[in-house]
Amino acid sequence: MECCPDAQVVRLDRLFTTTGADFVQANFVQADAARLPFRDGTFDAVVANHCLEHIDDVDAALCEIGRVVRGNGAFYVAVPDGSSLTDRLYRWIYHGGEHVNLFRSAEELAARISAATRLELVATRVLHSSLFFLNGAIFKPRPPRRLWLFANGNLRAIALLTYALRLTDRALGTRLSVYGWAFYFGCVREPVETAAWTNVCVGCGVGRSAEVLRSNRLLKGWLFFPRFYNCPTCGALNLFTPD
Ligand SMILES: [Zn+2]
Repeated sequence: MECCPDAQVVRLDRLFTTTGADFVQANFVQADAARLPFRDGTFDAVVANHCLEHIDDVDAALCEIGRVVRGNGAFYVAVPDGSSLTDRLYRWIYHGGEHVNLFRSAEELAARISAATRLELVATRVLHSSLFFLNGAIFKPRPPRRLWLFANGNLRAIALLTYALRLTDRALGTRLSVYGWAFYFGCVREPVETAAWTNVCVGCGVGRSAEVLRSNRLLKGWLFFPRFYNCPTCGALNLFTPD
C-alpha cells in the first residue's frame, strides 16, 4: 500500500474474520478462491501471501486467479517449502496448521502456477524464517506442551535458535533456516529483489537485508558477543548474520 497509495485493494477469504487492521476489513469479500465472484480481467495484480498451502482445490483457485487478473497483470505468491524444517516444525506445533497442500519443489510449483494462470514466471526468491510462530505469547490462554521443547516460546531463546540454524546453514550449506519461496509472475513493473535475506525478525517476521541493517547503523555488538539489532518495527532483539 505504501508504494501504491491510490490502489483499490480487495481482500478475499472463505471465512470472515473480525481481527486485523482496519484496512484489512475494508473491501472484504467472503468467497471460495475456486469460484471468484469477479469478472474476467478485473485486477491489475493478485497477491497470494502464505495462502496457497491452505486452499483445498488449489488448481481451480489458480485458474480463477488467471481469469480475474489482466493479461498484462502481475501475480505474487509466497508459500512454505513443505520439506523444510520450518514448515515441519510449524505443522507439528500447530497439529497440521491447516496446511492442506505441501509444495516441495519450487520449479514444479512455478510451472504449475504458470500453466494454470497463463502468466510467465519472472523471478523466484528464497524466503527465510525467524520461527516467530513459536512465540509463546501467540497462544491463549497458554502455550501447548510441545513448546516446552522451545523454552515455552521465549523470544530470546527463539532468536538464539534461529541464529544457530543460520550459522549451520552457512557452515554446512544446509537449508535449516529456509521458510519457502516467493514467486513473481506476469508483468512486474518494478525491479524485483531476488537476494535472500536471512535476517528475519523473531518478533514480527519482517525481513531486512544485511546491507540495510548496516547502512542504517542498527547493528550493535559487544566483545565476544554476536552482533545484534533491535527490530525497528517491533523492538525485538535479533542476532545478526551476513546474507
Ligand atoms: Zn520485528
